[in-house]
Amino acid sequence: MLDEYVEDQKIIYNILINAVKKNKYSHAYIFEKNNYENADKLILAFVKYLLCPKNYSNNELCGKCTQCDKIDRNICLDLEIINPDGLWIKKEQLEKLQLDFSKKSLENNKKIYIINEAEKLNVQAANSILKFLEEPEENIVAILVTNNLYQILDTIVSRCQIISLNRKNSYDNMSTLDKILSIINSNTENLELLIETSIKFVNYLEKNRTDTILMTNKLWHNNIKDRNDYLISYNILLFYYKDIINYKLNRNLEIFELTNEIKNISDNNTFNQLIKKINIINELIDHIKVNANQNLLLDKLIIEIGDVMNG
Ligand SMILES: [Zn+2]
Repeated sequence: MLDEYVEDQKIIYNILINAVKKNKYSHAYIFEKNNYENADKLILAFVKYLLCPKNYSNNELCGKCTQCDKIDRNICLDLEIINPDGLWIKKEQLEKLQLDFSKKSLENNKKIYIINEAEKLNVQAANSILKFLEEPEENIVAILVTNNLYQILDTIVSRCQIISLNRKNSYDNMSTLDKILSIINSNTENLELLIETSIKFVNYLEKNRTDTILMTNKLWHNNIKDRNDYLISYNILLFYYKDIINYKLNRNLEIFELTNEIKNISDNNTFNQLIKKINIINELIDHIKVNANQNLLLDKLIIEIGDVMNG
C-alpha cells in the first residue's frame, strides 16, 4: 500500500496522496522510475489508492475489499496494463484498450491504464495515445511508466504530470564506477576502461566535432569490442550528457565528479542541443538492439552530434 513508500519517496507520496484527497488527480501521469527498485509496486499501490472505494493507502484499513483483491489477482476490469509486444508497443494494443474501456464506460468507476516501458511506443502507437491524452475522459487515468523520459515524444510528455521517483540507494560516498555498476546491473570486468573510453570520446567529440570520425579506432574501437560493451558505453555517454545537463540546470551531478570538461561542454551547448544529443544516443541504442553494423553506427553518431553544434 502507498504508505509503505513514505520513507523512500516522501515528496512523491505527498503529491499523490494530496491530489486524490482533493480530487485533483491528473488524467495522465508519467512515472519516471530512475531505477528505483520498488517502482512497479509503488505504482500499483497508487492504482489501488485510486480505485479502492475508500481510497485507503494503508494495509490495516484496506487491501481486503473486492476491488483491491481483484487488483492483486490482476482481474480488475478497471485496470489495464500494457507491456511491449517484442521491441515495441503497437497501435493494435492501444486500440484494444480503447475498445475495452468504451464497453465499460457505462459503469461509473475510474478506469486506469498503465503503459510499461512507454519509451517503446512506436510512432503510430504514440499518435494514438496522443489522441487519448488530448481529449481525456472524465474518469480515465493514464499512467505511463519509463526509465527514460528523454525517449518519450515531447508532445506526450507535455500533456502528462511527471512523477520522478528517487533512487532507493543514495549515491553518497559511492564512486562513479560503483554508481554505474549499480545502474547497468551487469558485471563487466572492463567497466573502468569503458567509462574512461566513453568520457574521453565525448570530450574529444565536443572539441573536434565531425573530425572525430578519423579517430574512431584509437578513441573507441581499440577498447570497445563486443555488442554488450557497445551498449554499456553508449549508456555511459547518456549518463555523461545527463550530468552535463544537471550542471547546466544547477543541479547536483548524479554519476560523475565535476570536471572542467563537464563545465566547458555545458557552457558550449544550449540546453536544447544537449537534449538533441541525448536523443541521438537513445536512437542509436535502439539500433544496436537490432544488431546493425557497429562501425557505421558510431560514424553516424559522430556526424549527427557534430551537426547539432554546426547547425
Ligand atoms: Zn480496497
